[in-house]
Amino acid sequence: MEDVTNPAGRMGIRNRFLLQPRLDPAETAVRQVEALGYQRTDVRHIIVTHLDLDHAGGLTDFPHAKIHLHSNEYGITQRPLNLREKGRYRPMQWAHEAKFTPYTPDGEKWHGFDCARQLTDLPPEILLLAMGGHSLGHTGVAINRGNDWLIHAGDSYFHRHTMTEAKVPRTVRLFERTTHLNSHLAFETQGHLQKLVMNSEQKMTVFCSHDPVEYERLAGS
Ligand SMILES: [Zn+2]
Repeated sequence: MEDVTNPAGRMGIRNRFLLQPRLDPAETAVRQVEALGYQRTDVRHIIVTHLDLDHAGGLTDFPHAKIHLHSNEYGITQRPLNLREKGRYRPMQWAHEAKFTPYTPDGEKWHGFDCARQLTDLPPEILLLAMGGHSLGHTGVAINRGNDWLIHAGDSYFHRHTMTEAKVPRTVRLFERTTHLNSHLAFETQGHLQKLVMNSEQKMTVFCSHDPVEYERLAGS
């Protein structure tokens, strides 16, 4: 909500105009949780794929929640930011003494991904997966739904065609190269995800953070 009411202050003037976020209170996580009939204090756990400013703004609205994340991403919150990091992270988004629970990715391998094992106080059906390349500690989240795995790939990719043989628009590829911290590693992660979707014996439903068509497809499923 603070990103919506004070966008330039929270995201930085440059980001506010470059990203053109839709500043509608109804789109915030807290309002959507309330619209489902819950209170914000009912949210006890948040799993963040990473802490880029367009992913971490809502943490402030859930000060009681435990925030599960990769230890490298947590490391960013514990030291001064370098120049490049200052463009993508906004420490004020976690300045409310956020209850971080960091994980090193030293659990068992899971379909080619380094797995950060099960998460503290959460059911074993939820796994944190290291999906390197986009940021220092970027992760995905896999949830076993019984008849399939639902996998949130965060910013590992930006366009649904990345998961198929179809052509990804050039502008998206260009955008990826400027936003991934390590493009080589990020494309390796995309390869792993693609294999997962196409070759796995179990049904794998994968989506990323920024493709609205994928969200529409999954709405209500
Ligand atoms: Zn990002």
